[in-house]
Amino acid sequence: FSSVELTEHYIKRIEKLDGKINSFITHTSETALAQAKAADEMRLQGDNRALLGVPMAHKDIFCTRGVLTTCGSKMLHNFVAPYDATIVTAIDEAGMISLGKLNMDEFAMGSDNESSHYGEVHNPWDIERVPGGSSGGSAAAVAAGFVPVATGSDTGGSIRQPASFCGLTGIKPTYGRVSRFGMIAYASSLDQAGSMGRSAQDCAYLLQPMVGHDPRDATSIKHDVPDYVQDMIDAEKRDENKPLAGLRIGVAKEYFGAGLNSDVETVVRSALQKYQELGATIVEVNITDPEITLATYYMLAPAEASSNLSRFDGVRFGYRCEAPKDLVDLYTRSRSEGFGPEVQRRILMGTYALSAGYYDAYYTKAQKIRRLIVQDFNTAFASCDIIASPTAPTAAYKLSDDLDPASMYLGDVYTIGVNLAGLPALSQPVGLTPNGLPVGLQLIGKHWQESQLLTTAHLFQ
Ligand code: GLN
Repeated sequence: FSSVELTEHYIKRIEKLDGKINSFITHTSETALAQAKAADEMRLQGDNRALLGVPMAHKDIFCTRGVLTTCGSKMLHNFVAPYDATIVTAIDEAGMISLGKLNMDEFAMGSDNESSHYGEVHNPWDIERVPGGSSGGSAAAVAAGFVPVATGSDTGGSIRQPASFCGLTGIKPTYGRVSRFGMIAYASSLDQAGSMGRSAQDCAYLLQPMVGHDPRDATSIKHDVPDYVQDMIDAEKRDENKPLAGLRIGVAKEYFGAGLNSDVETVVRSALQKYQELGATIVEVNITDPEITLATYYMLAPAEASSNLSRFDGVRFGYRCEAPKDLVDLYTRSRSEGFGPEVQRRILMGTYALSAGYYDAYYTKAQKIRRLIVQDFNTAFASCDIIASPTAPTAAYKLSDDLDPASMYLGDVYTIGVNLAGLPALSQPVGLTPNGLPVGLQLIGKHWQESQLLTTAHLFQ
């Protein structure tokens, strides 16, 4: 079928069902249809790019020229970006068609999409449950069949955890692999964009145009870019019975401690069993105590956020309070009225950690521990190729559970170490709990090993 037919199908489905899910903040249906028409003509003229005319949608953290870019915040309720993020341009140039901008936790701070100014997102598996976060709109849109694939961003698990909650595959690449230019910053040393889809192969297709060096991002790194889909096709030619022979999967007891839901553990353990049947060997490794990792992350991420978010002052971007008395009043009220409670909490925590009297005790100490976390991963990777763990300690919980912030932070316990170490990791769906909720398995790779992760997950499916 044609791109126009495909695009119309998705638009109709969104119109009919997104009222229940709330995954989109902005629709770009008209431009999408025009692009689909153009794509069909190009296809007729012999353009055979794989992604030409395929619909997708972007998390609303990516700047899109001429299209509202809110980052889930009232602060940016009227911000129309004057330029495209590098990945937006790249996906556009690959021929894909964006259907709009997806809901998210405000400034990507959260794990259940309840902090969005544009309302909570509902999990298509059970609309009384959260889709995970912060890329919850992206996960819900793909799971509901509104788009085949979507972009996300991951600072501490925001691609992997919602993928896990919505039964999808989602990959966070190596830090520096994907340009951050035009991706609104949360914690710059941790943020990384990635792809989400129904399968590892779908993720690979969308990831391909996203990766590569970008001179406009000083932390983007020059490194060989493999052909992810071709690598999967090649891997399919391996020994059918033991395609993963020789692969060493590290399992750390620290990832199976108290707090891990027993239904989730059962599904994860049987996935590891299946990996062994496919030829992989399981080796025991150790990683840093996840509670220490959690504390380190929740010191550093808010510290960086407090600095990054200082640009939203009511002067240059977005929301400005009514009738400010003077400059201080303008700053104070614009920020108090424009930012929601979770963002304000992070700014306060971060400012405290960076303040003159506490900097050494908190920020410097956390940076030192970050170094030790990296060393622990290096030691673990000396005896294995991939580390496997549950993606999250629970399956999707109820919106009505209304977790307090500290309990919500606990849900990030298995994902955040990866960001602190800059490693690539994905979450793949490996089964359901007895009450029918999806469970994700996290695969963590060595730096630059996205292809190995995607291929491994592909052979499992
Ligand atoms: N839940 C984590 C946080 O709130 C991670 C968010 C993310 O990866 N953007 O910081």
